[in-house]
Amino acid sequence: MDRTPLAHLPTPLERADRLGAALGFDDGRLWVKRDDCTGLAGGGNKARKLEYLCADALAQGCDVLVTGGGRQSNHVRMTAAAANRLGLAATLVLSSNEPSHPTGNVVLDYLLGADLVWVGDRDYYGCEAAIDETCERLAAEGRRPYRMPIGGASPVGAMGYVAAADEVSAQLAASGAIVDVVVVADGSGGTHAGLVAGLGDHRRVLGVDVGTRPDLDEQVPAKATEVATLAGRAAPTGVVWLDHDRFGDGYGAPTPACREALDLAARYEGLVLDPVYTGKAMAGLVAARRDDRIAADATTVFLHTGGLPALFAAAYADWIRG
Ligand SMILES: *Cc1c(COP(=O)(O)O)cnc(C)c1O
Repeated sequence: MDRTPLAHLPTPLERADRLGAALGFDDGRLWVKRDDCTGLAGGGNKARKLEYLCADALAQGCDVLVTGGGRQSNHVRMTAAAANRLGLAATLVLSSNEPSHPTGNVVLDYLLGADLVWVGDRDYYGCEAAIDETCERLAAEGRRPYRMPIGGASPVGAMGYVAAADEVSAQLAASGAIVDVVVVADGSGGTHAGLVAGLGDHRRVLGVDVGTRPDLDEQVPAKATEVATLAGRAAPTGVVWLDHDRFGDGYGAPTPACREALDLAARYEGLVLDPVYTGKAMAGLVAARRDDRIAADATTVFLHTGGLPALFAAAYADWIRG
């Protein structure tokens, strides 16, 4: 499967010994995979997916990338950047009204100059429907749209995380270790599915539901099997592992456990997490270590998927000050 180079790879794999000790891990067991350092207008997990998605778009002769997400979507911002790198257009659906005062990712969306389509508040599949309508409109205008689902979560996009699973396994092998568990935030579930396809067993990936997609329990295993086939790997073993207890009142809603996770990462490691995805994923890791679903001697990789711009969304300013 072709990829178009867009990301800075391999990303660093760093020890997190001080945070690990604070959480009761045995020495040297907690690691952070820095996929916030992929580059592409601020970095994040969507860069690896976009490498495969854009290669597919170019192979099909498409001239406009089309996708969508919530107002503070990182995928939308990074798709706009990828389009600019490759000389393609981008038309991006945001399931929100246009804010009177742009903050966070929206500032970057304007700067990158993509064509933004504000469709008002939609649920997950309502936003997918708006992406379909936008593709139909563009095709009727004689354009050649390349449709990406929310989060770039097609099997082609998830191929980026099959490769990432291999990358992290090789990095740990160089230290004489193997990956017992990767902890990741689940939005669309595409990253989780790709990791499972790459690592070969559902029990090696803990996905922390951030409250955006209603059907992760069905979608992640179905996608993982599909991606494994596409990648020429064996179908994954085990049962999907999801934590649905960390998103609080919903997508982007602040929670005390997320705040604690942000503080722990910042104060023990100088590592900045975001309030929508990685803070909740770290809260899931903390909870799993405390109740021993992740053992003290398990080699654990926290996948830092990026998301920093959302920390600067106006909604979080007072919450961060505390
Ligand atoms: C999109 C995103 C995720 C979730 O990835 P999915 O593949 O959609 O599940 C996690 N963290 C950040 C920062 C993201 O932007």
